[in-house]
Amino acid sequence: MIPYGRQDISEEDIAAVVAVLRSDFLTQGPAVPQFEAAIATHCGADHAVAVNSATSALHIACLALGLGKGDRLWTVPNTFVASANVGLYCGATVDFVDITPDTYLMCPEALAEKLAAAEISGTLPKVIIPVHFAGQSCDMAAIGALAKRYGVHVIEDASHAIGATYQGAPVGNCAHSDICVFSFHPVKIITTAEGGLATTQDAALAQRMDLFRSHGVTRAPDLMVDAEDQGGWYYEQVALGYNYRMTEMQAALGVSQTRRLDAFVARRNALAARYDALLCDLPITLPAQSRESYSAYHLYPIQVEDRVEVFAHLRNNGIGVNVHYIPVHTQPYYRDLGFKRGDFPNAEHYYHHAISIPLYAGLTEADQDSVKSVLKAALDG
Ligand SMILES: *Cc1c(COP(=O)(O)O)cnc(C)c1O
Repeated sequence: MIPYGRQDISEEDIAAVVAVLRSDFLTQGPAVPQFEAAIATHCGADHAVAVNSATSALHIACLALGLGKGDRLWTVPNTFVASANVGLYCGATVDFVDITPDTYLMCPEALAEKLAAAEISGTLPKVIIPVHFAGQSCDMAAIGALAKRYGVHVIEDASHAIGATYQGAPVGNCAHSDICVFSFHPVKIITTAEGGLATTQDAALAQRMDLFRSHGVTRAPDLMVDAEDQGGWYYEQVALGYNYRMTEMQAALGVSQTRRLDAFVARRNALAARYDALLCDLPITLPAQSRESYSAYHLYPIQVEDRVEVFAHLRNNGIGVNVHYIPVHTQPYYRDLGFKRGDFPNAEHYYHHAISIPLYAGLTEADQDSVKSVLKAALDG
């Protein structure tokens, strides 16, 4: 079976993890700050906070921005459930903005309309989370300008998009957002097994995220309430935080993987360009790319007429396809919150036709040719 995505682990990656196992620190050592520095440098961000998943990174990002009870968080339906769930963790109300039919990204026009209506009814969100679906950046200039106008915070869910650029600058530089979040799950661009990270240009936000990832406990004099240091053991809990820390083994793997980040993204782009050429004569819709974006190509999502049949044929013939995403608002848990099918028609229409075909750095041209021939047979069938 050719999977839809998988990690690429080198001997150097393995040696980096083994070296940590032989060292003094399995957690809270030097590797996490090293990994944070590597990603911050790559993204052109002043600060990076590494945690045990992107879900945790989104959660502490929301907490750092003060999201709480009575507040509202908006994201897109075409995402993994975590992008929305983090709002509920904070006690906020969650709502959605529909996607564009061609890029499957948050639609700036739909956002503008919804913000204008929310301003009138006094229901503006505190936080919006655009998602860089498939590795392509959203129209962040438009989204950032709207956020500024209405006084809304922006967290980029760039789980798919490390190594991507927007308007020539790296995703993660937070040029149009407060915080940007990456995932290092094995199917993503680089991996730490489980893992995530938040970048920001704001020192205070970084300090608050650092607090929330480790129990709300601090040794920083400027964060302490009672302040006077009573000795070397002394710390204070000044917020209700979590244990969201990344281990040293994960961070060492991350440092090692980051050395190949640009090569992984270049390889994914070359494979995507080859799919573009290979599949353009089939009766399917290929993923549209904006001129402003260099995608990290986490996914290569196609749309087909008879999705159920084509998906089954591919799966039954050795092609490990998947579907991204079941619109979050149609999940039973979100229907219980009042959402219903039909609420966000573009995301639902896209979902009913979507198939993510295999794309990862280790995919071969022969694998791509197999995908094409099985896909062609499925469409002819
Ligand atoms: C993978 C993913 C997440 C969650 O990432 P984890 O690291 O598994 O917590 C969140 N949002 C999107 C869009 C994702 O693809």
